[in-house]
Amino acid sequence: MKFIGPHVSAGGGVENAPLNAHQVGAKAFALFTKNQRQWMAPPLKAENIDKFKENCANYGFSPDYILPHDSYLINLGHPQHEGLLKSRNAFLDEMQRCEQLGLKLLNFHPGSHLNQISLEECLDRVAESINIALDKTENVTAVIENTAGQGSNVGFRFEHLAHIIDKVEDKSRVGVCLDTCHTYSAGYDIKDEEKYVGVFKNFDKIVGNKYLKGIHLNDTKKELGSRVDRHDNIGKGLFGLDFFRRFINDSLFENMPIILETPDETLWKDEIALLYSFIE
Ligand SMILES: [Zn+2]
Ligand SMILES: [Zn+2]
Repeated sequence: MKFIGPHVSAGGGVENAPLNAHQVGAKAFALFTKNQRQWMAPPLKAENIDKFKENCANYGFSPDYILPHDSYLINLGHPQHEGLLKSRNAFLDEMQRCEQLGLKLLNFHPGSHLNQISLEECLDRVAESINIALDKTENVTAVIENTAGQGSNVGFRFEHLAHIIDKVEDKSRVGVCLDTCHTYSAGYDIKDEEKYVGVFKNFDKIVGNKYLKGIHLNDTKKELGSRVDRHDNIGKGLFGLDFFRRFINDSLFENMPIILETPDETLWKDEIALLYSFIE
């Protein structure tokens, strides 16, 4: 089965996220468990946690198909001690919030070397950051998202993801989320029907399909290999609807959250219905 849904707002309290997802016909969703533009957030209150779990149960959302995203401020590969420490503390807080909410996955962008350390050194730091967070938590899997490779962001090659995973001690709690927009912008031609097969063969060889825990299904405004991260709504960008029809029928993406991070939220309901209508 395919579990599709958008990255919804948790404004007014985390318990609103499952309601927002339900309203657009979603079977999965993503959310921020705190304000993603601030370092610190007040702890979750018991009443919000309880309502979140209650709403998820009422609307049929299993934690298996909820993919929370961490704050964009966090850089787990930060070149400087202070920034690294701040990021590691904030990431641990995010992992613990997921634990409190009964969630199993936390999706994050690996980090940036800021042109101050090598790419390899940055990847090593990301892996060590994951090790620290996994040590202090239970049950939550750290889900590394591939990036478009904009600026000094790492994680735009499958080899980068494999490098990080290789250095994570608890392999049972590390995974990968592939973002279709990022994958294409990073230079992997998934739009082309034949090359698509090769890209995913490569992913399995280099990273391993068993690590694939989620998908960000976005159209893209930018060309292949542009290394620029600009999402578009389904069918409005460069991919074309044929791509989405093929993608959503690929059995590789069964039983994992397939999240839309498409910019115009007024289209989400139609996008979800369209994708489900494609399933053969
Ligand atoms: Zn994404
Ligand atoms: Zn993106």
